Amino acid sequence: MLAKVTSAAVVGLDALPITVEVDVAAQGLPSFTIVGLPDKSVEESKERVRAALKNSGADFPAKKITVNLAPADLPKEGPAYDLPIALGILIASEQLRAEITDSIFMGELSLDGSLRRIWGVLPCAIMTRDQNFKNIFIPTDNLDEASIINKITVYPVKNLRQLFDHFTTENLPAGMAGKIEPAKAKKQIFKVLHNDDYDFENIRGQENAKRALEVAAAGSHNLLMKGPPGAGKTLMARSYATILPKLSFEESLEVTKIYSVANLLNRQNPIIVSRPFRSPHHTTSHIGLIGGGNIPRPGEISLAHRGVLFLDEFPEFTRQVLEALRQPMEDGHVTISRAAGSVKFPCRFSLVAAANPCPCGYLGDETKNCVCTPSAITRYQKRISGPILDRIDIHITVPAVKVEKLTTASKSESSKTIQSRVQKARDIQEKRFKGLPITSNAEMSGKNMKQFCNLDELSITLLKQAITKLNLSARSFHRVVKIARTIADLEASVKIKQNHVAEALQYRPQTD
Ligand SMILES: [Zn+2]
Repeated sequence: MLAKVTSAAVVGLDALPITVEVDVAAQGLPSFTIVGLPDKSVEESKERVRAALKNSGADFPAKKITVNLAPADLPKEGPAYDLPIALGILIASEQLRAEITDSIFMGELSLDGSLRRIWGVLPCAIMTRDQNFKNIFIPTDNLDEASIINKITVYPVKNLRQLFDHFTTENLPAGMAGKIEPAKAKKQIFKVLHNDDYDFENIRGQENAKRALEVAAAGSHNLLMKGPPGAGKTLMARSYATILPKLSFEESLEVTKIYSVANLLNRQNPIIVSRPFRSPHHTTSHIGLIGGGNIPRPGEISLAHRGVLFLDEFPEFTRQVLEALRQPMEDGHVTISRAAGSVKFPCRFSLVAAANPCPCGYLGDETKNCVCTPSAITRYQKRISGPILDRIDIHITVPAVKVEKLTTASKSESSKTIQSRVQKARDIQEKRFKGLPITSNAEMSGKNMKQFCNLDELSITLLKQAITKLNLSARSFHRVVKIARTIADLEASVKIKQNHVAEALQYRPQTD
């Protein structure tokens, strides 16, 4: 007899239905074959399914079993097909009767028949809804991830035996022993978590740097910090995520999908509810950073989507790596081409880069002497130029903090307070750019700037002086105006005033 069970495959960030056809032939020598581009982990499914069926009290038929995963041209990977294959065998060998045309099944089987957590459940749950299936059966461990999707019924399955009992008691009343209780859609489990380890109130001193980070957050400007080791650059970058505007439910879904496909969700963090912070090392491979692989997976830039990408020791990143970042930063997504087609991963992140002033880190420091040769310093500083630097609006110096500042008892402003100002400034920008393809000041084109950057007379005078005195290039002129726009937004000022321009001028790179 032939059985058909529907499962799902993840392609990029989306899922497609996969039909698992199982034929148990009445004649022929006993065998077990899987066709339809299975990879090794799908091949190994045979052993798991065989043991799981036996250990769940079912029969593994000693017959010719053929499993076809359709469509055949799509590569299949991972152990998620264990459950649909086992269910197909139960039906095709007439051990079980079940009406399953409205349902999607996925899950990895242990040898004892219990189900293990799998990756990619969120895109599959979204597919279940969008393709008008009614139910999805998944491992219990994946429940939270799936149940943020409404309009479908999510069945958390503990083990194969439970699934078997569920269908054999199908026509009996709910609440019967053996029946799987469907999970309730729970949008309410979505709440913004706050990590107290990282908060601006724990950063003493560094008022200038903190202000620059506030401006960066308010206008979505990328930022570069230069300073000696131990100045707190990493702590500030981590805390930066806590002053960005709140993650909306839709954004949280976007980010969670990426983490689901990257297999980075777990029982403690089934849903990503706060802005991600990613800090790839400068030795991270191209694929690790940008994404890729035989079956494409998101890289660090996509894992930082809607959050912070922190590039510490920025001059140590190779030119090729920085060059590869350029296009995705411009597009807000990265396209990965493979023989089987291309996939797109989003990557809208805030870039925070950090660099020492010189190889030893103490150039210009008051407490320690720099031991670098002048040529080494020049070479080092030259490396902080090039492709990405054009996309960094705000440049600041972060000095070592004086000891008395560190020991003062007074607490600094909390992330919450700063974040509420940032949010207001972003709300202004959202209104401003309504109907345009941009959402923040950092993204303004020259044309946008003409329309939206209304400078008062004094600020025009100041800018003119800066152009001649500081020899500002056209590019840095644009940068200064954009940042001034953001600083004005933080004060809810429609016009850009002189003090806004004056502050913006402080954030230009020293090389300008
Ligand atoms: Zn040095």
